[in-house]
Amino acid sequence: STPLIASPARTQAIINRYGLSAKKSLGQNFLTDPNVLQHIVSAAELSEQDNVIEIGPGIGALTEFLAKNSHQVLAFEIDQNLIPVLDETLSQYDNVKILNQDFLQVNLPQVLAAGLDMSRPLKLVANLPYYITTPILMAVLQSDISFSGITVMMQREVADRLVAVPGTKAYGSLSIAVQYRSTPQVAFPVPRTVFTPQPNVDSAIVTMTKAPVFETKPFDEGAFFKFVKGCFLHRRKSFWNNLLSMFGKEPDVKDRLTNVLEKNRISPAIRAEKLTIDQFIELTNSLHSEGL
Ligand code: SAM
Repeated sequence: STPLIASPARTQAIINRYGLSAKKSLGQNFLTDPNVLQHIVSAAELSEQDNVIEIGPGIGALTEFLAKNSHQVLAFEIDQNLIPVLDETLSQYDNVKILNQDFLQVNLPQVLAAGLDMSRPLKLVANLPYYITTPILMAVLQSDISFSGITVMMQREVADRLVAVPGTKAYGSLSIAVQYRSTPQVAFPVPRTVFTPQPNVDSAIVTMTKAPVFETKPFDEGAFFKFVKGCFLHRRKSFWNNLLSMFGKEPDVKDRLTNVLEKNRISPAIRAEKLTIDQFIELTNSLHSEGL
């Protein structure tokens, strides 16, 4: 039988036969370690009932594992040179559909409704193109699609920021944007040596399950995220100084900001990185009540 696409020898053979050169600009680093692929599939807890979407199938290394362990796979690949390659490498799997599309330009609800039976559980499993990790995660988490699981590989340093807790260096607006909408966890680290070509960073597999329930809701999500971003704009400044940059230094504004801090029992000398998501939500709402 044909060896796995991910085996180093077959990957090299595919690259040679098609004269492929991995495009750095598209984040092309192909996985060549079947053990890592097996880990990804296990972390995703795939079952034959699940439909899966994949972003960036490359030459099909992960897609092959997804096809074997799920009902149907819908994969989005931006690079049209890889489409004939995927047609060949995945020809024995009749449950895979490849779309030659930029994932960030796709109308996801429409494409999914057209391509998949949406009554089945839907999972996202991907070895992401690292140059657009954040926009992809935001698009996925902000979409109205309810995923029964998200399992994605990304740069280790970005994974650390996603899961960071208050009071740590890695905690910031990205941690909050993701943890507001999901519960991210690092499933396992992945060394750079399992890719062809090797990237110059290590990676990690992250799973994202449903978001925790917060004490209150922001009166407006846009206002909440704008406020969080503003709080982390100058990381070394005190929270108070960040507030003044955001709302102004007029005496009347300072009075109202003082009221907000007192009401929430937050010291002006604190740094934004110490505040929890619940506190950011409460602050957003109190600022709004003070007309700020
Ligand atoms: N899944 C393969 C693997 O694990 O070996 C390849 C992963 S590689 C890190 C990322 C893939 O994403 C590349 O095939 C690249 O062409 C594709 N890609 C990059 N930008 C994309 C986009 N905007 N939409 C869809 N695919 C994209």
